[in-house]
Amino acid sequence: MEAKEETCLFSFGVIADIQYADADNRPNYTQSCTRYYRNALELLKEAVRHWSGDSCANKPRFVIQLGDIIDGFNNIIGGKKQSSLALNVVINEFEKVGCAIHHTLGNHEFYNFSRAEITTSQLSPGTNFETTEVDTSCSCISGLISTSVKVPPASYYHFSPCLGFRCVVLDTYDVSTIGHDKSCSVYQDSLRLLRSINKNECLNSSDGLQGADRRFVEFNGGMGDSQLRWLRGVLQKASNNQEKVIIFGKMKLSAKKRIVMRTNFFRQQTKIPVFALHTQKSTPLKDKQD
Ligand SMILES: [Zn+2]
Repeated sequence: MEAKEETCLFSFGVIADIQYADADNRPNYTQSCTRYYRNALELLKEAVRHWSGDSCANKPRFVIQLGDIIDGFNNIIGGKKQSSLALNVVINEFEKVGCAIHHTLGNHEFYNFSRAEITTSQLSPGTNFETTEVDTSCSCISGLISTSVKVPPASYYHFSPCLGFRCVVLDTYDVSTIGHDKSCSVYQDSLRLLRSINKNECLNSSDGLQGADRRFVEFNGGMGDSQLRWLRGVLQKASNNQEKVIIFGKMKLSAKKRIVMRTNFFRQQTKIPVFALHTQKSTPLKDKQD
């Protein structure tokens, strides 16, 4: 959102795949690169210094963290205690920015915490944003409603950072086998969908899958029908109000390569910038209708 100072309506910061852990460097899952776990925190500190420092001409209205805030390795080396410690370290850095911080959910969030745990953590949007009712098909969350825990209505939401603009934060792991309890119907439906296409014993492997089917792997996720209906409504209302929309989520909204597990991309009449990750080495995707 860089622009000449006199025309800049607002700016925001974007950061993704921090994947912090208080652990020595080691190769990633596919052995294709090294993960510099501790240095990740130094890079975040550098970004925070920029956003909050005098060198930043247009202070961000908000910062969006696009998922995988800490690495799943935390849980492997120290369990939930290590995961919570690592999350606190990173969240403490974000709090120094001095503006609103938004967190999208990635697979590494769910390697560390259950969906219910995230709902009541610092990664939850809380109850301050415009969203919709809890999807009761997910028993991980609906089970919390009967307890004393204050449950946010949903993990996806929208807000307006500036008159004429609408930001939408998606939960692209709404439908997935990770995060949900095995007793949850969303988990069971997601597993059935995965196994119907991915015949590998290890569902994180895309061996034998071709083209768009390569997205049917366990580390991926998608949006359920409730979220899609909600998103269509948000986009329609924004269009009626002549608002420009910016969408954020961990996954690309495309049916190509390793992206959302469900083919649920839909056409809009206006161009919508989408900030997403999970294909870090790919070039920006441009819709043919642009
Ligand atoms: Zn669930």
